[in-house]
Amino acid sequence: MPPKSSGWWGKRRQTKQVWFWIMINPGDVISYIEMCSEEGVNLQRGMNYHLRGDISVILMSLRPNAPYADKVEEDGKILIYEGHDAPKTQDTPIPKIVDQLIYNPGGSLNQNGLFYKTAERYKRSKQNPELVKVYEKLHRGIWVYNGVFKLIDTWKEESNDRKVFKFKLELTENTLIYDDNHQKESVLEHNRLIPPQVKLEVWKRDKGKCVKCGSTNNLHFDHIIPFSKGGSSLVADNIQLLCARHNISKGDRIE
Ligand SMILES: [Zn+2]
Repeated sequence: MPPKSSGWWGKRRQTKQVWFWIMINPGDVISYIEMCSEEGVNLQRGMNYHLRGDISVILMSLRPNAPYADKVEEDGKILIYEGHDAPKTQDTPIPKIVDQLIYNPGGSLNQNGLFYKTAERYKRSKQNPELVKVYEKLHRGIWVYNGVFKLIDTWKEESNDRKVFKFKLELTENTLIYDDNHQKESVLEHNRLIPPQVKLEVWKRDKGKCVKCGSTNNLHFDHIIPFSKGGSSLVADNIQLLCARHNISKGDRIE
C-alpha cells in the first residue's frame, strides 16, 4: 500500500468523501432500513454511545405522542434531548414515574451515564466534545437525518415529580464524512435544523413527494431560498420536498 501522502491515496479518499457526502445530508428523508444501513447496525434504542468508532447516534422525536420531551431551541441550532427511562422490570413496572438512572443493575454506566460523563468532561475541559449524529422520526418507518451535533452540556431536572437527565447539543457547521479507515473528517457546510413542526407541515403539504416530479424516493427537505442566502428554516413557505435528482440539479443551478 502506498504511503498516505501519495497522490493516489489522496485521490481515492477524495472519491470516498464525495460518495459519503451524497449518501446522506442533513435534511434527507430516509427509511428505517436506510438509517440502519447508514449506521451499519440494526438501531433498536434511542441513545447509542460510540456506535461506530467515536461517533454517537441518537434518535429523537417531537411527534405529539413521543415518549420523551425533546426540544429544538435557538432557531434550530440547539437541541435539548431528554435522557431515557429505566427499563421496565418487576421492580420498576412503570418507568415513567421513577427517576432516570445512570447505572445498569450490574453497576456499569448505562446510556444516560455514558452521555452524562462525556458531557461533564467536556464542561470541565472545553475540548473535544462528543460528536453525535441525530435522526428524527417523522412518521412510522420514516426518518430525517438532522446532522452532526456537539454534546456541550448536561443536567438533571425535575419533571412530573421525578428526576430526568437533559442533554444540550449544538449543531455543528460541519457535516461528517469518513475516509477508508472510518476516521472522521469534515466539510464546511452551513446548515440549520428545520424545526420538527415545520418538517411535519411540509411533509403533509407536499404529501411525502418531490414537488417537481412526485417521486417518493430519496427525498430531502430543501430550502427554497438557501440558508446561506438568507432563507429561513423556520417557515414552511421556504421549505419543500425534493427528490435527490431535483435537489442536485437545483444545486448545480445555484452554484
Ligand atoms: Zn423530483
